Amino acid sequence: MTLETAPPWDDVQNYIDGDWHAPSGTDGQDIVDPATGETISYVGFSSTDDVDAAVSAGQAAFEEWSETPVEERIQPLFELKQLLEDHQEELAEVLVREHGKTLAEANGELRRGIENVEVACGIPSMMQAGHLPNAAPDIDETAIRKPLGVFTAITPFNFPGMIPLWFLPYAVATGNAFILKPSEQDPVVAQRLFELIDEAGFPDGVVQLVNGGVDTVNGLLDHEGIQGASFVGSTPVAETVYERAAANGKRVQAQGGAKNHIIVTESANLEFAAAKTVSSACACGGERCLANDVIVVEEGVYDEFTDLVLEEAAAQTVGYGLDDATDIGALITPEHESRVRDLIASGVEEGAELLLDGRDVEVDGYEDGNFLAPTVFGDVEPEMTIVREEIFGPVLGLMAVDDVDEAIDVMNRSEFGNAASLFTGDGADARKVRHEADVGNLGVNAGTAAPMAFFHFGGRKDSFFGDLHAQGEDMIHFYTDKTIYIERWPDS
Ligand code: NAD
Repeated sequence: MTLETAPPWDDVQNYIDGDWHAPSGTDGQDIVDPATGETISYVGFSSTDDVDAAVSAGQAAFEEWSETPVEERIQPLFELKQLLEDHQEELAEVLVREHGKTLAEANGELRRGIENVEVACGIPSMMQAGHLPNAAPDIDETAIRKPLGVFTAITPFNFPGMIPLWFLPYAVATGNAFILKPSEQDPVVAQRLFELIDEAGFPDGVVQLVNGGVDTVNGLLDHEGIQGASFVGSTPVAETVYERAAANGKRVQAQGGAKNHIIVTESANLEFAAAKTVSSACACGGERCLANDVIVVEEGVYDEFTDLVLEEAAAQTVGYGLDDATDIGALITPEHESRVRDLIASGVEEGAELLLDGRDVEVDGYEDGNFLAPTVFGDVEPEMTIVREEIFGPVLGLMAVDDVDEAIDVMNRSEFGNAASLFTGDGADARKVRHEADVGNLGVNAGTAAPMAFFHFGGRKDSFFGDLHAQGEDMIHFYTDKTIYIERWPDS
């Protein structure tokens, strides 16, 4: 099989009970290529009936799937891993066309997704919960994990090929049924993923796809046949989803937005740090929850580091994601581009020094694309909007501080706590930041603190609502409940 990569594409479909269906709700929206402005597909939104149909099929499938030996349950995942490997290039091209990022970034994202499928193939070992003979006189105790039913995940636009795989492989490997509600802004890569899932050999109803917007999400969160929900997206929606799902008695984990800091000390390798800083802030057009865009620099190296950042930022090529020369692709929509432009204007109005202005960028042949080039501010202050709010564009601000203590203080004042990075040559500084930073992911001499699939992924404060995070072992806890067996066999 080959996956169709060249748009225009047929309308996006739901995948329910092993079959493709057009969503039957009344609303929907066009899918637009962010680089060309061309309409490349259409996604209809699912009705309550569509949600009911998926949940019922999931419940029916769960009966047998949860009783299927674990070794059999992971066979379709091995198949899926191979299908993803075989079709990675096609998936990456689809991803570029509907999202706007570069081909290298799309491939990187898919690799991270595949990693999660690989990790979930180890469920037979990871799902074991423990056994203790002679826990009490003549008594053995055994803990077992049991799957719970039908789970859903609601995912954002910025990593449409990876984030569904933070959840899906673990949900089904542990014996649950799973329903994905992808972002309505770029749902085609999820549809292609499900074309591969259809081929991988899962029983009907075990893995399903339901497209839609707010009403579809609420339908899933309110449905009594759903046991738990995972959410990834902006903070206001994460908080609402968390509250709504919890009020309905469901397990819930909700990952929100971010505002991440880099600390650069006088002992850092400044050239290395500048390259990683620009990449962290601007890769994927800055549309990453791990983008670090507030750069807090020790006074003594502030001027030198600022010059290096400006040199690196100015060298970035903005363009069409499928062109080899492109470093930074298009932003998701004209509305989002305009929001980022407004935030840049707020930086100027609130007194930051605009050192590099990316607003006038032009990309030949792509005049209708949503492009912005790297934009660098100097002398930013903690109260400024561009320091407090998530920008989600290729914009960064530099700030001078006296020392690492002040840098940590600035960073920990943020309402968000998703990630941070430290560039230093000093182990004592590294230890201090490691102990005091109030963030979920921390890089030391690493610009983007993205955990591999066998570690959990999640932030703190307004970046996360819940306790168990995405990926790895946390997912096994989220998708199972534990029962204790206490056994004694007296002589009869
Ligand atoms: P978003 O919150 O607009 O949408 C995310 C999902 O929620 C989509 O599927 C959407 O259909 C649904 N949704 C939107 N509004 C809703 C509402 N009112 N009620 C119920 N559901 C709703 O987010 P986005 O713009 O797609 O993604 C970008 C955001 O996601 C950024 O803030 C980014 O930081 C965050 N993000 C966080 C992480 C993380 O791990 N913390 C990872 C990736 C992205």
